[in-house]
Amino acid sequence: MADSIKVGNVEITAVLDMIPPPRDPTVMFPETSASDWESHGDALENGQLQLYYGVWVIRSQGQTILVDTGMGPGPHEHLGGAEGKLFDRLRDVLIPADRLNNTNVGPSDEVNIVVHTHLHGDHVGWNLRYSGGMPAPYFRRARYLVPKADWDHFTAEGTIDSAPQVSRQVMPLRRLRKMDLIEGEYNITDEVSTMPTPGHTPGHQAILISSQGEKAMIVGDVLHNKAQVQESDWCAGVDIDKGLSRQSREKVLDMAEKESYVIAAGHFSPADHIGKVVRLEGRRYWQAV
Ligand SMILES: [Zn+2]
Repeated sequence: MADSIKVGNVEITAVLDMIPPPRDPTVMFPETSASDWESHGDALENGQLQLYYGVWVIRSQGQTILVDTGMGPGPHEHLGGAEGKLFDRLRDVLIPADRLNNTNVGPSDEVNIVVHTHLHGDHVGWNLRYSGGMPAPYFRRARYLVPKADWDHFTAEGTIDSAPQVSRQVMPLRRLRKMDLIEGEYNITDEVSTMPTPGHTPGHQAILISSQGEKAMIVGDVLHNKAQVQESDWCAGVDIDKGLSRQSREKVLDMAEKESYVIAAGHFSPADHIGKVVRLEGRRYWQAV
């Protein structure tokens, strides 16, 4: 299905960083049992829950905006040695074909803004590279927009020791003067803004796109799996505040259904990571576009 979609004047394109090993769905969603998943076979792959680590490029009003930066280059020992491929794949998406054979041209200069839905490790991995122990941004011309409530949560004493991705991939951005803390509804361009969707993390935010009467939303980890479109109560075990996570998910699904948003979900399979929420016989369903 689609890897790229036009929403009015805005273009949204999916870029896959990596595919982690599959998981048992009842481990990922600890409040569910195997029998709960029997009617959601189409949301699993060979009975397993397969996440994807995908990010999004938005082009709006001359700005190139990267939403999240994936897991990072790795290799990641805790993920079976898998390696992220975001930078190579971004090159193909961002560089015009007639400049692709110039090896001096890379994706680093092409991104103006990086905005994070939240600060978990699979969303900040390609922020900084290290050379001789010194960090430098992968996207050297970009401002990095970080949700303040996540910054406050993860950098707090008592939390930061268990969030090495933040100390390594986010905190140096402040010293390098590349980062802005944002909160509430923040306008990135006239067509692209943030909407707080707390729960998965305290500062989790969705990205809203509105142009020429058309609407889309990049939902981050409000949705990990399409079964949650029907079962909006189901929370991933990693959701920090499950009550708030349910509220945010219900709000997003309600908006999507009633206002006909195109939804982009980076953890879904590339086969159906762009879709709409439709209602059939009283229940919501995910319909890939
Ligand atoms: Zn995630």
